[in-house]
Amino acid sequence: MPEKIFRMYNSLTRSTETVEPAQAGHLRFYACGPTVYSYAHIGNFRSFLTAVLVLRTAQAIGWKTTYVTNITDVGHLTEDDIADAEGEDRMTKALRSKEGERFANIWDLARYYTNTLLSDWQALNLREPDARPRATDHVAQQIRDVARLLEKGHAYETAQGVYFSVTSFPEYGKLSGNVLSNPLDEGVRDVVQDPEKRDARDFALWKKDPGHLMVWHSPWGWGFPGWHIECSTMAQAYLGPSFDLHTGGEDNKFPHHECEIAQAECLTGKPFARYWLHTRFLQVEGEKMAKSAGNFFTVRELVGSESKGGHGIHPLALRLALISGQYRKPLNFTFDQLQACAKHIQRFEEAMDLAEQGIARSASGKNHLAEPLEGLYDRALDAMLDDLNTPEAIAAAIEGAKLILRSGQELSESPAQSAKTWLDNINSLLGIVRQETLHEAMQSPESNAAEHMFSRQVEELLRQRAEARAQRDFQRADAIRDQLDEMNVEIMDTPEGTRWRRKITGHVS
Ligand code: AMP
Ligand code: ZN
Repeated sequence: MPEKIFRMYNSLTRSTETVEPAQAGHLRFYACGPTVYSYAHIGNFRSFLTAVLVLRTAQAIGWKTTYVTNITDVGHLTEDDIADAEGEDRMTKALRSKEGERFANIWDLARYYTNTLLSDWQALNLREPDARPRATDHVAQQIRDVARLLEKGHAYETAQGVYFSVTSFPEYGKLSGNVLSNPLDEGVRDVVQDPEKRDARDFALWKKDPGHLMVWHSPWGWGFPGWHIECSTMAQAYLGPSFDLHTGGEDNKFPHHECEIAQAECLTGKPFARYWLHTRFLQVEGEKMAKSAGNFFTVRELVGSESKGGHGIHPLALRLALISGQYRKPLNFTFDQLQACAKHIQRFEEAMDLAEQGIARSASGKNHLAEPLEGLYDRALDAMLDDLNTPEAIAAAIEGAKLILRSGQELSESPAQSAKTWLDNINSLLGIVRQETLHEAMQSPESNAAEHMFSRQVEELLRQRAEARAQRDFQRADAIRDQLDEMNVEIMDTPEGTRWRRKITGHVS
């Protein structure tokens, strides 16, 4: 394959750039994941899908990928986006709501919504990440990072918490444009509840709150971490101090990502992520999605069977609808469009059936499909390489499906083979032809997916520990061992390599 160029709009430089991974041919990236206080909605999935499309496109041009996406299960407050460290923890609020009554406690609620997230993820044919760290599994590292920021003079402690001092980082504002010299933007975070805060824009790294439902002991007493430090610590734990790309929804740009950059770069003195990608919000029938507007949809209610009160929509039709607009433009989700998407999915299925029947029949004949389909795949791939131009890529995919269907029932073996290969390739790129079941034993999807995720997380940490030891960075190797210890994983260094097992803790977590 000739060398392909992947171009992407970088929110940090505000320009479209050629993506050049720091390690040639290996894209390493972090995508902000959900806060598991409720079912993820289709807007959340628009953002998660963008990250997975980056992954698929990178893999389509032969790149290696390391893709990390997190689960936020503590510290994300209701007012976090408008006023720092304000409002109630979303998890706590959910537990105290009517819907929260069915949960035994906050951990039970977190586990439930993490599991439902994972099954929605699979229903929409999203690829599994290489690691899916949970904020609550990484609190020891977050505490360590906060302590280091204090040591380095980038943070200070008050009676209510520990804050990052934005004036200690002159580059604060480089992502969002909310620069320190612009007094207008101070209003964004001007609701200051803590009178000891030195600057309205300083943000919480640690909240002191012994009465909170999820608390950890820290050098500053009992409390819990700030939402921003969770993501930058987890990203660096799995990808190192610097990596290629960081993604999220448009609302994450400020304050979340701006704050992540400040913390991370002050900690390491190195650039954090080089490319930043932000997905515009999904609207529903032309309006902002909101429970009060009655246009708030979760994946499960749309794809759930009608007999169980769902809308019975084909998950791939929903996926197609959610990726039908380029991620940088607002997307309007409508039921009419969903119907059109369902027709397209049916076309892909019929095309696949034709191809498989043709292969089985093994009749000989001229291959009239190879060349046009090849051209259409190139068109789809080139579109994706052009800042994820999904409308153009999908148009090429639909044209190909129609071309196969026009061949009629009597497809001979060689064009059938070309059609099948083409459909498989289109599916690898866009995930709209058929479900890629990663785990065959999906009868109990929630527990299997969670188990799989846990094992991959442990394996990745063991790999990083081995790397640290090879580089004689014993401090880092020990920190990773401590983290595994916190996850109740026991490791044994043997002449054949490092083995691991779960510790018997005597209680069911
Ligand atoms: P949250 O669960 O609130 O932490 O959000 C998870 C991800 O979904 C974040 O990256 C958000 O930016 C993104 N997000 C939230 N609402 C929407 C929406 N309506 N459209 C697209 N992305 C969204
Ligand atoms: Zn995040």
